[in-house]
Amino acid sequence: MNDNLHQLRCFGCGDRIAGSDARPDFRCVHCGDLFEVEYAGWNQRKGHDRPNAGALKWLWRERRSSSEVLDQSGVWRFRELLPILDSFGNAVTLREGNTPLYPLLRTAKALGMDQLFAKHQGMNPTGSFKDTGMTAALSVARERGFEWVACASTGNTSAAMAAYAARAGLRSLVLIPEGKIAWGKLSQAMDYGAVTCQLKTDFDGCVSVLTEIVQRAPIYLLNSVNPYRLEGQKTPALEIAEAFDWMVPDHLIVPGGNLANSSALGKGFRELHELGLVARMPRISVIQAEGANPLARSFRLNQGKAMEPVEAHTRATAIRIGNPASWRKAAKTIQETAGWCLDVTETEIAIAKAELGAEGLGCEPASAVTLAGLKKLRAENKIAGSESVVLVLTGHTLKDADYTIDFHRGTLLTDREKAGYEAELDQLRRNAVVVDATPAAVLAALEGSAG
Ligand SMILES: *Cc1c(COP(=O)(O)O)cnc(C)c1O
Ligand SMILES: [Zn+2]
Repeated sequence: MNDNLHQLRCFGCGDRIAGSDARPDFRCVHCGDLFEVEYAGWNQRKGHDRPNAGALKWLWRERRSSSEVLDQSGVWRFRELLPILDSFGNAVTLREGNTPLYPLLRTAKALGMDQLFAKHQGMNPTGSFKDTGMTAALSVARERGFEWVACASTGNTSAAMAAYAARAGLRSLVLIPEGKIAWGKLSQAMDYGAVTCQLKTDFDGCVSVLTEIVQRAPIYLLNSVNPYRLEGQKTPALEIAEAFDWMVPDHLIVPGGNLANSSALGKGFRELHELGLVARMPRISVIQAEGANPLARSFRLNQGKAMEPVEAHTRATAIRIGNPASWRKAAKTIQETAGWCLDVTETEIAIAKAELGAEGLGCEPASAVTLAGLKKLRAENKIAGSESVVLVLTGHTLKDADYTIDFHRGTLLTDREKAGYEAELDQLRRNAVVVDATPAAVLAALEGSAG
């Protein structure tokens, strides 16, 4: 490891250690908190190792037309801001990142907004933002000579890990909660050759088991407690800043599960700001599902100073997490950017997902909390119509096709959940109809839908 360029700093007590000295569970020996990657050269030897802002902006854009493998990755294109490897030749990449930023014209109009965008992280190689983190952390595992990697997952982490491990020729172990993950994700882990164990517990239970395993066997832990994952996951912040010509949007809205992604995006913008590449950070808000809302509760009760775990229930499986590991990092991001943390109901999530679908941008249920949250923030006048807002869509719609089909068939939500929303739901639902194989029958169906 390139211990000269980076070190790990404990988020709780501030202790600094070399990257290679971290415990297998990535917890601080003194206080049990998580680490953050820190690059000493950026502030301690000012002027010397500190990257030059103008030169970097030029270099990163130039790389977009390069045919070099590393340059084609939307993560490693920014490698000056993540010097975590001894040799970038050890990087394992599937050309992740460089995801599209789509304007949401109809939704913006409906909400009385001028500038609304979706950063679609579901357009990554395995269909979620987890790829950006996995390319970083799995490359570290390879460089350190590990033969096995492992994660506990609600689905997308395992899909990403299994794919990157397979590319690198490493073996992978996946622990998932039995019966509580979307089939699209489980099928990916199998396809990419992971050893997959479904445990009779929830996500948080899988994490406890895995934490024991990595202390007993030489297996590299790739859950988001691994600080190198956040280094990859911060790069969408760089892409967004670049897309806005380094002016940064006013507000970024991110789903919150284990809360690593919001933390990573906060770190990305914070570093851009510290290095003088952007003039300010955007406001960053985190949205959780009502049934898996420990951080939203904590913000209601004590402004994010303390958090009580909950037992998590939501159909948005990617954010069904009751005891999020990175909550302190996420709370810091929300506090320092004056963002909000709220929760939204299952009905609000389902409607928002269908609305994004109707704009031609499918996404996972977990991603749709961003639009549901935006609608709430607009209704409470916490976001002005003139602000530029980016919703981070975290996963691809095909990850959980069952959810979408159930919604359009009308079987997703209970009667109680539908109450008060019947008209809205009717307007959004597009169920497939069975008709006779004649032009007349199809034309009649057309007429029916137009009315
Ligand atoms: C992992 C994931 C999330 C939650 O991200 P955290 O870093 O756990 O907060 C949200 N949406 C999708 C699609 C995910 O895969
Ligand atoms: Zn500590």
